[in-house]
Amino acid sequence: MPEIMLLNQETIDKIAAGEVVERPSSVVKELVENAIDAKATAVTVEIKEGGISFIRITDNGCGIEKKQVPIAFLRHSTSKIRSVEDLLSIHSLGFRGEALSSIAAVAQVELITKTYEELTGTRYVIEGSKEIENEEIGAPEGTTFIVRNLFYNVPARRKFLKTAQTEAGYISDLMERMALSHPDVSFKFINNGQTKLHTSGNGNEKDLIYHIYGRDITSAVLKVEHETELFKLRGFIGKPMISRGNRNYENYFINGRYIKSALIAKSIEEAYKGFMMQHQYPFCVLYFEMDSELLDVNVHPTKMELRFSQNEEIYHSLFEIIRDTISHRDFIPEVPVTE
Ligand code: ADP
Ligand code: MG
Repeated sequence: MPEIMLLNQETIDKIAAGEVVERPSSVVKELVENAIDAKATAVTVEIKEGGISFIRITDNGCGIEKKQVPIAFLRHSTSKIRSVEDLLSIHSLGFRGEALSSIAAVAQVELITKTYEELTGTRYVIEGSKEIENEEIGAPEGTTFIVRNLFYNVPARRKFLKTAQTEAGYISDLMERMALSHPDVSFKFINNGQTKLHTSGNGNEKDLIYHIYGRDITSAVLKVEHETELFKLRGFIGKPMISRGNRNYENYFINGRYIKSALIAKSIEEAYKGFMMQHQYPFCVLYFEMDSELLDVNVHPTKMELRFSQNEEIYHSLFEIIRDTISHRDFIPEVPVTE
């Protein structure tokens, strides 16, 4: 057996980065979540070559104070929690303090940021975890991240990326979900110079559905609004006729976070049984609000999975709500009565 040795910091950083940053869309997800946590009301995401060579994310949020900038790029540095107890009541999308350090370990990152209180902003450049520049600069309030040449120093990862078009497709899907998750934030997504998505941020969920999915879908949705002991639920579900052959139209958000949950998917799909053909999946955009103490979002570094402390109750209440909503409506198009 070879000698057991501690890995050097650079190797440790790159391995850790791999958990958070799998592809360009992971970078976009983390940075957009940071913008939302910074209370931005407008977020612009611009990519070139599927985000592999260039990602720019601009927000009008609170900015980062000059002396805090280098700290933000350290691993496990965060302004969002202070102790494990805080994990019980998470109100932000981020909290693990891993995104900036991970992205900076595997890409060339430029940051321009200014807080409301400061007179000048900061420009900071970091590549492969090494600080390259740190200077004062005139800048508007808010934050811009530019991420260039993702995985330039991790050829093994770079090799596994798909074509620029496919990577851009992942980012486009993500941007739609981000926009749906925060109707009160205006999102703009530009791919190779072309604006692909631009939401108003007016807070109206139905406007968003119209903007993203078009008129046919919007005219075939049913409103859901309900409160149980465990959660508040609002949003829209599709009439069975707009079902799809895959789960791409199933969107659910818990406390503003887009998540994947086998429990929620199963409960909704079961409720549609008998209304829909086999291997068809419903359309839904559902917003859950629940006490964060009933949730564990710290299951996976990407925070897309979560655990509930009350699986059974959530499953059954949700089933009932969805069942009621679809069975109390008349799906036969109304034919005007002619006399
Ligand atoms: P986390 O989001 O888990 O706290 P990150 O590595 O994503 O960790 O970010 C580290 C810190 O940098 C955040 O806690 C936040 O204080 C600051 N930060 C990152 N992005 C922004 C932004 N767009 N606007 C303001 N502050 C930011
Ligand atoms: Mg974060």
